[in-house]
Amino acid sequence: AKSSGRNTFHFYRPSMQLLADQHLAMEKSLHTSLQNNELYLHYQPQVNQDFQIIGAEALLRWQHPDQGFVPPDQFIPLAEETGLILPIGRWVLEQACFQLSRWEKEGLCPENFRLAVNISARQFEHGNFIDSLNEVIQQTGANPDLLELELTESLLISSLESTIEKMEAIRAMGIALSIDDFGTGYSSLKYLKKMPISQLKIDKSFIADLLTDTNDKAITETIIAMANHMKLQTIAEGVEDADVMEQLIKLGCYHFQGYYFSRPVSVENYTELLKVQKLP
Ligand code: C2E
Ligand code: CA
Ligand code: CA
Ligand code: CA
Repeated sequence: AKSSGRNTFHFYRPSMQLLADQHLAMEKSLHTSLQNNELYLHYQPQVNQDFQIIGAEALLRWQHPDQGFVPPDQFIPLAEETGLILPIGRWVLEQACFQLSRWEKEGLCPENFRLAVNISARQFEHGNFIDSLNEVIQQTGANPDLLELELTESLLISSLESTIEKMEAIRAMGIALSIDDFGTGYSSLKYLKKMPISQLKIDKSFIADLLTDTNDKAITETIIAMANHMKLQTIAEGVEDADVMEQLIKLGCYHFQGYYFSRPVSVENYTELLKVQKLP
């Protein structure tokens, strides 16, 4: 490899090094992002078929001082790898719960309102998670009945017993559980039925081509039918137009989230939407 390696050495090494440097730099700045107030939440409305607001998903945003906006798909995996997802995830919960308690105090939460917060597997699996959740509820005065945690299917394949135990403790607090990106992971349906889950969130990868891809339609139809049998709610994410919404209604899904209704918006803008309670 050495004799033929001269060119490849010069060609590959700098770019590999660059990638590693960038990774390290990103990790460093992610470390300080919390203290430096670079993180904030956006809220994406969830609606029913009358366009009334039934909730929101809190979505993390990072405004980097030099690089500008960094999408969560880039920094969340890094936060998970490095363990930074623990303090960051805690901060997200605090922010979301604090906001939830403000909205409730101001009388802005409609009936059956729920604010959904993403919880990464690493955060959920941490031994402190339930205590941490309890602390945040106490500190912020958030009503746990209005809170929902979005968990991914990756949880469902790790230690089943302790996962179910934790889920039951969370349910006992009044908090709802939703399985995010449903259909994309490896969860066993046999496990699913043992879990105290309230909702399946149909992944946007099935929703995007719902009208043209017969496989996506079949999968979506099956998820909704199964959820109905198991008395679970369904919500579709990534709904981008009226035709898709209509098709979902035909298939029996009545809760939606997506650009057709609204992009994720600032807390100020979401609060304004809550005041009118309905999307135009
Ligand atoms: P997710 O949980 O599946 O969140 C939904 C993503 O779909 C969001 O991307 C949202 O902006 C986007 N989206 C909403 N409506 C539409 C639509 O109609 N069409 C399309 N194409 N996309 C739509 P975002 O905000 O970039 O977040 C990406 C991912 O980052 C999230 O995917 C989630 O996995 C992760 N994430 C975001 N915030 C948090 C957080 O606070 N904690 C954790 N652990 N993960 C988070
Ligand atoms: Ca989510
Ligand atoms: Ca999702
Ligand atoms: Ca996703």
